[in-house]
Amino acid sequence: MIYPWQIDEWNRLQQLRAAWPHALLLHGQAGIGKLHFAQHVAQGLLCEAPQADGQPCGQCAACNWFVQGNHPDYRIVLPEALAAEAGFVAANGDEKADKADKADADDGKKTRAPSKEIRIEQVRALLDFCGVGSHRGGLRVVVLYPAEALNVAAANALLKTLEEPPAGVVFLMVSARIDRLLPTIISRCRQWPMPTPAPDAAAAWLAAQDIEDARALLAEAGGAPLAALALAHDENRALRDWTLQQLAAGRECDAFACGETLQKLPVPLVLGWLQRWLYDLLAQRTAGAPRYFPDATAALARCAQAADAGAFARFMRTVTRQRAVENHPLNARLVFEELFLGYRDLFA
Ligand SMILES: [Zn+2]
Repeated sequence: MIYPWQIDEWNRLQQLRAAWPHALLLHGQAGIGKLHFAQHVAQGLLCEAPQADGQPCGQCAACNWFVQGNHPDYRIVLPEALAAEAGFVAANGDEKADKADKADADDGKKTRAPSKEIRIEQVRALLDFCGVGSHRGGLRVVVLYPAEALNVAAANALLKTLEEPPAGVVFLMVSARIDRLLPTIISRCRQWPMPTPAPDAAAAWLAAQDIEDARALLAEAGGAPLAALALAHDENRALRDWTLQQLAAGRECDAFACGETLQKLPVPLVLGWLQRWLYDLLAQRTAGAPRYFPDATAALARCAQAADAGAFARFMRTVTRQRAVENHPLNARLVFEELFLGYRDLFA
């Protein structure tokens, strides 16, 4: 099943059935269910008894294999880190990448962290898959997610195949950041923008998942319902609320307590909170209304009025610079202390 806000999109997409593009680039905001949608499209293309609207039947042999993750004409390519997190098993081929990993281990190298990139070994394994004929006599389908995780070598290896696609192979590329894709990749795909659902539809869906504060969570998630759901179940929510209280205190923000309390959290997570708060301060100042934290409007208005405009612009740049290096190993405590001290100085 697709999400309720994707039904119109599904029906629109079926117009492509007569002449399905060999590579489709589904793109849109993070947290709106693009991957789920792409997998459903893949199942619909592989189903051997699809319904009139193109939906997979859910009962044929192809659908059964698909659901179990072992349809022989289907591949999903994800960065290792994501595959591990999402519980995707390597049942879907990728034998070459596995072998490469074993070779790494045999060399006595240190065990490396799961890659956040889609690596060239994965693309090579995929090209082998594309080179072999269809097992079931129908299409072969590849889902690649997220496309922006392709590193340069992997993207270049894929490019040749996108230029001269093997007959009967369909690529479904999924991306939340097409600004990070090589233009040459984008130009070889049919672009398909996926809209963020209307606030009412998203809130209704969240309410049906027993989520309280659906509106506030949606605002914080920029309107993306799955991101809002993740926030609702976020184990760090209490710390996030504590951090927002610190930020709301403006000049009274305790930067050292922030360093101490938040040091175990991933740097990108805390920087994300800080950046959204700053965005809201700016929105409050310029538009008179916050975007991410509407529940904190009063505190935002107070802080926006007290902050020095020039210092604010400089601090925004500092945070942006910090985001650029956030995945490097850093002393989180020091990073947080420095940033929250910088924040406090806005109100000096
Ligand atoms: Zn089926």
